Amino acid sequence: MLAEAWRVYPNEACGLLVAERGIDRPIVRFEPVENAADSSRVFTLDPMGFMKAERRADDAGLEVVGVMHSHTHTAAYPSATDVAEATKPLVPPTWHWAIVSLAWGFPELRSFRVTPGEGDVMTLAGIVEERVVLS
Ligand SMILES: [Zn+2]
Repeated sequence: MLAEAWRVYPNEACGLLVAERGIDRPIVRFEPVENAADSSRVFTLDPMGFMKAERRADDAGLEVVGVMHSHTHTAAYPSATDVAEATKPLVPPTWHWAIVSLAWGFPELRSFRVTPGEGDVMTLAGIVEERVVLS
């Protein structure tokens, strides 16, 4: 994830987190996906890349459990845009939102669960940081 963040810098990197099937299983694979937004401020998972990564995971008996993207100018914390994306109806609330920040010249990786709230997304959505274990 860190390598991908540097590779596409100054644009935002993105990709999918793949885990063994089941509840709270360890993430075993990162699948880089092209940022279709081609931007340093926002990311859009390329739909074809998303589909291919999902197919590879499925073929391996694994499942997509989250998304990673990088922040090139801000901290590794979900932005208002991220929260809006994370709380869309089709996005599973169990997804991990891993964010790599390159804002300070060294990579910082943090991960969050973002759950929908009612009303204003930024103040009422649940943003909970989770522990990242790297093997
Ligand atoms: Zn973001």
